[in-house]
Amino acid sequence: MRIAIISDIHANLEALEASLEKLSEENIDLFVSLGDIVGYGVDPNKCAEIVREKFQVSLLGNHDFAALGRLDISYFNPYAKNSVKWTEEKLTEVNKEYLENLKMFHKEDNLYYVHSTPCKPEDWNYIFTIHDARVNFECFEEKVCFIGHSHQPVFIMKNQKNEIFVKNESELQIEDEFRYIINVGSIGQPRDGNPKSSFAVYDTDERLIILHRITYDIEKTQKKMVEAKIHPFLVDRIANGR
Ligand code: ZN
Repeated sequence: MRIAIISDIHANLEALEASLEKLSEENIDLFVSLGDIVGYGVDPNKCAEIVREKFQVSLLGNHDFAALGRLDISYFNPYAKNSVKWTEEKLTEVNKEYLENLKMFHKEDNLYYVHSTPCKPEDWNYIFTIHDARVNFECFEEKVCFIGHSHQPVFIMKNQKNEIFVKNESELQIEDEFRYIINVGSIGQPRDGNPKSSFAVYDTDERLIILHRITYDIEKTQKKMVEAKIHPFLVDRIANGR
């Protein structure tokens, strides 16, 4: 079985379409979205419609929750706050209802999927340190946990001696002695210094995870953002990958 796992589309239609075009050559059996379909970008409805049609597993992100007026956004930065209001006004009732019904996490075939962290996903915490990783490995039992949220792809692995290893590579062979937390990065707003869209494909027969990076028409997306009067910080950000 081949599973595509994507996250943090953030209403970036050009990035989503380019990623799906690449995935159309990949013989995918299961499409998984880890959330933050909307927020920051200018195409929340089109992105929500594509995910509704194409993705068998679709989870809730904090920006999806915020766009429904359901999240305390006092801790959001000012750009994110404005974007939440903008998105809330633009979203159709059908898409709001879709976001409203998204699940927080999903378990299937010894795999665990969640937007933020396996421990208390509703707190929207991040896994940034070895300590964060160690704590979160205790909160799921499956072999591999796929996450998004930080917009920074990374492979984290723990062996039976409780040692943690972090890898910033594009390929990972799954081995018996380890369990894994895999951050698949972001489709629409990467923040690891590389503006290319990031997502993962897991081949469960080969036991191989490939992290793909895909170019898309960033200038076209930026032009649409400028026309929609989105703050320049957010417009620049997608080209900087920060
Ligand atoms: Zn996000």
